[in-house]
Amino acid sequence: MMRAILMGPPGAGKGTQAEMLIEHFKIPHISTGDMFRTAIKERTPLGLKAKEYMDSGALVPDEVTIGIVADRLAQADCLNGFLLDGFPRTAAQADALAKILSDLNMGLDGIINIEVEDAILLERLTGRRVCKQCSSTFHTVYHPSKEQGVCDKCGGELYQRSDDTLETAQNRLKVYNDQTEPLIAYYSEQGRLKRIQGDQEIGQVFRDVLDVLE
Ligand code: ADP
Ligand code: ADP
Ligand code: ZN
Repeated sequence: MMRAILMGPPGAGKGTQAEMLIEHFKIPHISTGDMFRTAIKERTPLGLKAKEYMDSGALVPDEVTIGIVADRLAQADCLNGFLLDGFPRTAAQADALAKILSDLNMGLDGIINIEVEDAILLERLTGRRVCKQCSSTFHTVYHPSKEQGVCDKCGGELYQRSDDTLETAQNRLKVYNDQTEPLIAYYSEQGRLKRIQGDQEIGQVFRDVLDVLE
């Protein structure tokens, strides 16, 4: 059983660590960003609502985001744990999460914050490549796929996210500092936040995360 939250600025390595953590703990990966991207691809009403916000690097409104997470956490596969990646990102989302979990009679085993400085984040975001099929994440320099443009895991085609341009990435970091960074104080005042140094190689970050969770 592992119920955990992965926090950290855009590009900190949440998705990369999540891929490994969900295999290790056999828990579902709940990434609001992935859910929105799937909805956009499938042109669902949720996707239509989310698209303009994501394109500019703004946050999708709380009422939309909280609703999809509440529905997802109530599904049967979350009974044995889950990994939340990229949620909560606002104070309202953190409050809503506390309420959702208490209604479901669930606690949290770990709240992880992956810390990386802005200059490195921008390099990571602008070099990120993502698999169209399975959402696995690579980097042109720091974590290249074996064959250029092709996913190691599933052979799918890699693409660059439209919000990973320098301009939108800079905007996302600003949004993070304004709206999400204050949550760090919120969770650390409760004595529940574990801080991880994210500027280390991927395997070392993973070992550090496991150390604080186990
Ligand atoms: P990153 O991995 O770079 O942090 P995500 O894939 O988590 O990016 O998020 C991409 C975009 O999806 C965000 O810029 C935002 O528009 C939207 N999004 C994701 N999670 C949330 C959330 N919890 N609240 C509001 N918007 C969100
Ligand atoms: P997030 O989900 O927090 O936005 P990602 O996991 O997508 O972050 O990582 C952002 C980019 O940085 C990706 O291209 C990824 O391959 C790369 N990356 C992730 N972790 C590291 C690391 N420890 N060192 C160097 N590059 C990394
Ligand atoms: Zn793939």
